[in-house]
Amino acid sequence: MASLENVFSWSHSRDSCFRRCPRQYFFTYYGAWGGWERGADQRTRAFYVLKQLRGRKMWAGENVHNAIRYSLSAIRDGGSLFSAESVIEQTLQNMRSQWRDSGEGLYWENPKKNCALWEHEYDIELPDEEWKATVDHALDCLRTFFTSETFQMIATLPRDAWLELEDLASFELDGMKIWVQLDFAHRDNDGIAIYDWKTGRADKETTHQQLAGYILYAAQRWRVPPEQIVAREFNLAANSIHETRIATDEIASLKESIIIAADELKKLHGVAEENFPLAEDEAPCKSCNFLRVCPRWHDDTAESG
Ligand code: SF4
Repeated sequence: MASLENVFSWSHSRDSCFRRCPRQYFFTYYGAWGGWERGADQRTRAFYVLKQLRGRKMWAGENVHNAIRYSLSAIRDGGSLFSAESVIEQTLQNMRSQWRDSGEGLYWENPKKNCALWEHEYDIELPDEEWKATVDHALDCLRTFFTSETFQMIATLPRDAWLELEDLASFELDGMKIWVQLDFAHRDNDGIAIYDWKTGRADKETTHQQLAGYILYAAQRWRVPPEQIVAREFNLAANSIHETRIATDEIASLKESIIIAADELKKLHGVAEENFPLAEDEAPCKSCNFLRVCPRWHDDTAESG
């Protein structure tokens, strides 16, 4: 079988990774490429496995997203409905077994199948209460979701009003592929409503940019004027909803800012590792997946960044 080609595309998370640390970006999008193949060299394999690590907060958030997607898929497909308590109980069991698998380091054998927690990889000693608080947080977020008006509204939506449910999707901008993943979207009278579930504190500006990108995608995908689209961040930790809209006269500047950001990254597509500097300061290193392999920490000839 022909090997996959690492074709350039842009996404908000890809851009955030680059702004955090260009070398981390290289490791994630280039160093890890092909690490799934049997004959991958040791370094590539290590990048690929480390790329799958997630800190406990992200792990909790992923479990919340998965549980919501699972429940909403059942509603959409008209299958048997799951009670909120059964979904919460299943999430608790999933998290327990993921935690055990991660603690045993099974992800080094199969990182796609087994959960890989950053704290386990880097031997961070956490008291049991801290892990319990992480799991409780995920379950509380689910309770908030299942008792919300938003969930009641979704559960009673006609099937033909559903548009997307965490599907990985893309649109074209200036000939470039831009990836997006909407947690949920539905038709709302003449417009569209998009939802993004958050399980922790989110940077306002970053969230606005992310949601504005979703609005651009939705306008193109379903041919609806952007001013008729609303994107709602439902923060399940705070039980609050924040709305984002973009006016027609903002569209051009929004597109331009994405094109400029994407062009900057596109120029670096395929260039060597040395062209990606280490983060200027050590703040992003504190939670970086690649601490084990980064030359800042593991090379006598280390680049000081
Ligand atoms: S350890 Fe620090 S410098 Fe190295 S890749 Fe990670 S964030 Fe960048």
